[in-house]
Amino acid sequence: MRLKGTPVSPGFATGSACTFVAQELAIPRYAVPEGERAAEAARLEAALAATTAELHAAKESLRGKVADDLLDLFDVHAVILQDPALLKTARDHIFAGGLNAEYALERAVQTVAAALLASGDTYFQERVVDLEDLHTRVQRHLHGQPSVMAVPCGEARVVLATNLSPSETGNLHHAAIAAFATEHGARTSHTAIIARSLEIPAVVGVAGLMAAAAADQRVIVDGVNGLVILDPTAEEEAEYASKAEAYREYRRRIEAEGRREARTIDGHVIRARANIDLEDELHTAMAAGAEGVGLYRSEFLYLQCSPNLPSEEEHAALYTRICEAMYPHRVTIRTLDLGGEKYFHKVLEPEGQNPVLGVRAVRFTLRHPDLFKTQLRGLLRASARKNLAIMFPLITTVDELRACLALLEECKSDLEAQGVTYDPEVPVGIMVEVPSCALTAEAFASEVSFFSIGTNDLIQYLMAIDRNNESVAGLYDPMHPAVLKCIGHVCEVARARGLRVSVCGEVASDPVMTPLLVGLGVTELSMAPAALLEVKAAVRNLSYEKCRRMARRALKAGTGPEVAEIVKSHARAGGAGRQG
Ligand code: PEP
Ligand code: MG
Repeated sequence: MRLKGTPVSPGFATGSACTFVAQELAIPRYAVPEGERAAEAARLEAALAATTAELHAAKESLRGKVADDLLDLFDVHAVILQDPALLKTARDHIFAGGLNAEYALERAVQTVAAALLASGDTYFQERVVDLEDLHTRVQRHLHGQPSVMAVPCGEARVVLATNLSPSETGNLHHAAIAAFATEHGARTSHTAIIARSLEIPAVVGVAGLMAAAAADQRVIVDGVNGLVILDPTAEEEAEYASKAEAYREYRRRIEAEGRREARTIDGHVIRARANIDLEDELHTAMAAGAEGVGLYRSEFLYLQCSPNLPSEEEHAALYTRICEAMYPHRVTIRTLDLGGEKYFHKVLEPEGQNPVLGVRAVRFTLRHPDLFKTQLRGLLRASARKNLAIMFPLITTVDELRACLALLEECKSDLEAQGVTYDPEVPVGIMVEVPSCALTAEAFASEVSFFSIGTNDLIQYLMAIDRNNESVAGLYDPMHPAVLKCIGHVCEVARARGLRVSVCGEVASDPVMTPLLVGLGVTELSMAPAALLEVKAAVRNLSYEKCRRMARRALKAGTGPEVAEIVKSHARAGGAGRQG
């Protein structure tokens, strides 16, 4: 029987199943007499403490086996558990409302989850999954049923579960695990991230998995195509044994080549850089052979300092650390891109009907020159090593760019007056993510050192779809000829002026898009650190000249599916592709 799910960690594995069906916990609801409320609150606090201890043990069990920054995930969970608002709300329900600990906790979790969802910030919204996961764990302690998942020793087993929390994933690592498959879960869940880091093939979101699966049954997990095969035939087992071997060989090769530059078979070099949101990701990026940072999203510094604003010194210290870690590679830092639906911060004014089309990014910072100049001076202070570049987001008109450059000049004079050293030649570039900017790229070219195409927003604005609205996600097509024409035009202008041109939107992480982007004339790709090895490997399989010809054909196509067909036939004729 074949079941489909979301592939979250690549690779192939076969083994016998170890099944874990989550027990539904009924949350009891009863009144607690006044005199017993303090003891009830103590019972809740003990369950919270036991869960924290469990997280700590899981973290220690993974130490040395995964990158240190992944261990921080457990600290994120500990911070959520220790959230004073969570405990205070639950205690209020116990003391003022006379609720029992289980029900008080459930109500408090609902309140905190609602606040996270209403924050408008994707990072906080995604933490709701973690909160719910932690909620179940604390409830298990309150019910006197702490989670125990034991995998028998001996032959490597395939773990099939309703869901796995990160700590359970961590605990399971003691045992010989060949693969994971779960009925719930998403690509961005921490469990998926840990599975990738442990290099264990994993598929999540497999509907009907636990009803169909049985303990000790033979199972194949295909973490490349998102398949779970229960009771495979002998032919299927043989087919997957050879796929697994080919995949291991492929990984060995791309890891060995990871540090080398990405050069096509006809000698054309594409710079592969990392997109970084948090400083911690630098280690993963460097381990995967990043040749610098192509996009540092500085808004996270503002979110970390919220409700205050980062000082010039805080800006300078963070950017200096990144530039030192990456030296001599270039680090491109994007100035604040707050606003729209993107991130929420108290400095933002309430928005009108269409925040995505409103005061966002430089539209916001240009209206707050003091805030903007604090960041620009921080950037200049960090530029003395000469490997820092500054990038302005969401540029729409040349006047806007000039206003940004004028403020930068004022900041240079401020620093000179103070005798502070900085790089007077600091490269300045723009994000090309508004169609007006892409189509008039030549008007910007003489004032910048580089272009960086932000396809996430460019596609949003070109196709008139909110990038966060699932109901129009079907129109989000990076292969649409309108998108290719914009990218192609910016590349042509850059080439004529001898400028670097990067793509830093999510499409840069997709090896299927690599031949098209290279063929259109992109000189750099900046992507999620996890994508670096594979995209660099994809470049090494390409012929630049063939990509150029393929891109010329694609530019003449009328629809996205026609372009997809052109890309597929290029791959079939010997282009790059992932194994499997
Ligand atoms: C983009 O728009 O493609 C981009 C990289 O910026 P962000 O995703 O931060 O808007
Ligand atoms: Mg953008």
